[in-house]
Amino acid sequence: MLLRLLATVAGLLLSTAAHTGTLTLQDANERVPLMGWTEVYVDDTRSQTVQDVNAHRDWFQPSALEAINFGFTEARVWLRFSIRNNLPVTQQRILYLRHFLFDEVVLHTVTDNGIHSQYSGREHLDQHNASPLPTRFFHFQLDIPPNTTRDYYLALTSEDALSSSLTLVSLEQFQRIMIIDAAAVTFYSALILTNLFFAVFMLVKLREVELLYYVGFLVFHHLIAIMMLEGVPASLLGFDNLFWNKTGFIFLINVAITMAVLFSRSFLKLKEKYPVDYLISRGLLVLMLVSCVQSLLLPHVIGSALTTVFCMIVGVGIMVTCVRCAAKHDRVAKLFLLSWTAGVTGATLYGLKLWNILPINGFTNHAWHIGTVVEAILFSFTIADRVTTERRMRLQAQTEQVEQERALRQAQEQLLQVETAAKIELEQQVQERTKDITQIMAKLEFQNQQLTELSINDPLTQVRNRRFFNDAFPELWQEAQRAGGWLSIILLDIDHFKAVNDQYGHLTGDRCLVTLAANLRQWVSRPKDIICRYGGEEFIIVLHATDLASATQLAQRLRQAVSEIQIPLEDTTLHITASLGVAATIPQPDANPEQLIAICDHALYQAKSNGRNQVSVAGALQSRSLSNNR
Ligand code: GH3
Ligand code: MG
Ligand code: MG
Repeated sequence: MLLRLLATVAGLLLSTAAHTGTLTLQDANERVPLMGWTEVYVDDTRSQTVQDVNAHRDWFQPSALEAINFGFTEARVWLRFSIRNNLPVTQQRILYLRHFLFDEVVLHTVTDNGIHSQYSGREHLDQHNASPLPTRFFHFQLDIPPNTTRDYYLALTSEDALSSSLTLVSLEQFQRIMIIDAAAVTFYSALILTNLFFAVFMLVKLREVELLYYVGFLVFHHLIAIMMLEGVPASLLGFDNLFWNKTGFIFLINVAITMAVLFSRSFLKLKEKYPVDYLISRGLLVLMLVSCVQSLLLPHVIGSALTTVFCMIVGVGIMVTCVRCAAKHDRVAKLFLLSWTAGVTGATLYGLKLWNILPINGFTNHAWHIGTVVEAILFSFTIADRVTTERRMRLQAQTEQVEQERALRQAQEQLLQVETAAKIELEQQVQERTKDITQIMAKLEFQNQQLTELSINDPLTQVRNRRFFNDAFPELWQEAQRAGGWLSIILLDIDHFKAVNDQYGHLTGDRCLVTLAANLRQWVSRPKDIICRYGGEEFIIVLHATDLASATQLAQRLRQAVSEIQIPLEDTTLHITASLGVAATIPQPDANPEQLIAICDHALYQAKSNGRNQVSVAGALQSRSLSNNR
């Protein structure tokens, strides 16, 4: 309704008053929109011949149209007009139509000799005296002799829209129009090719499937479809096949819009980001696949109408998807919407022209072209913008990662420093503790040694005590037994010591004991030999690896040494003597240490008995006394 209103307003603004009667040629430079001078007859059956319509001039009605515009119709439209040449020379004019998808355009000229027919379009070039000008425009050359009026019938058929301007110009003007037109097509192609090259470059560089779809869309829609709309392939490749003008064109449009759906869903990342819109896009894709098939199978009039409906639904569907995504502040979707809107708007304006809702003029004739160019430029910008945005985000992410890594490294270094410090401190503490422990251990060892010394030594005389003897003697016994060597012992007892104590006091007695022990130590100095205080004033000496003779010899020396001891007292000098028993054996398994002590003790007893101050030697079973050698 709104569109009708707009069309009416536009029509009012742009239309000129319809003329009736005959067009009189003025001069060669005039450019006449001929539709205003025509009458129209629509032959729905396509059955009437030129003779029929010429015989029934009353079938024709004056046209209120600014240009040929009958929408999509299967009818044959007849246009009738008269041109008068009042000038003195034959006038040459070109009649041309600015639409390229007609099935057949035939101009019938009524002359005195009858009706002469010209066919335009490359299919008919050779046979029907059409204009020799190499152009894709449907056009005719009109030669009108001086002072003559000519009647013309123009018959138009197309399964596409019957929608075109109809203009009468001179040959020179037509040539100029063709040059301008060629320049415009070149300019348009250059713009689209630039965008295409950019897209291909991006495709090669980024290798993203969405760019492949975009390239497909550009190629099929912008390049092939629009060029086909302009009749370029026909003029360039020399074919004017109706299949390409009708079915092929509609099919390619369908393929192009299918590409657009694929491109949009991939580019907007619907699958990853907008699941609902992804589902919608699937529906749109199914619609387009159906449309592709129907465009090949159904008659062109139905196929093209369905294609228009499907493409409109899908075009709006893509827009709705973009709007929904853009509403979620998706920058890519906003740019996509802008680009897509430009294309859809251009196509819609062009479509409205075809349906005679909008008037035919320079803008509506090229609305689709303008829309596609703006669309392509905006898409290129959108793609570039997305690449730039992604690169910026990648850089930002990289920078953040580097920052994080640096922070992590710093933290690690700090941790390492703390660890190192802690380790050093720990080591110091361990060293200190170790030092303490070592000191304590040394002290303990020293104290242990002292304790051991105390436990095995006699505190008065500083020789070994009885306890030590009890432990050490069996070991020495066993050692000698293992080695099969001699083991000797000497028992020494001070003579009449009780009397010393009684006469000089206990302390003097102690001095005697200390002096005696010191003497003994001078004579018994081998490390393995032992001097023990065996009882009160009784000492035992253990001599390892010493036979009886050597032991007896040592006993004699000891007896001598004791007798030479002088202990100075206040008023006198004290002398002491001692009696000694000697025993020796090579320890046998059936003997024991106590037996050796027993026979030695017995020998000592013998020495005492024999008068003291002497050495008595014990035998294995019998004792044998050695008399004093003094
Ligand atoms: P003899 O051996 O010649 O037969 O006579 P004796 O007087 O020495 O007799 P005996 O060996 O029995 O005497 C031991 C004496 O030694 C008794 C005791 O007074 C004295 N005596 C023992 N131990 C010590 C001591 O540690 N210090 C002092 N001063 N005297 C001691
Ligand atoms: Mg005694
Ligand atoms: Mg004694």
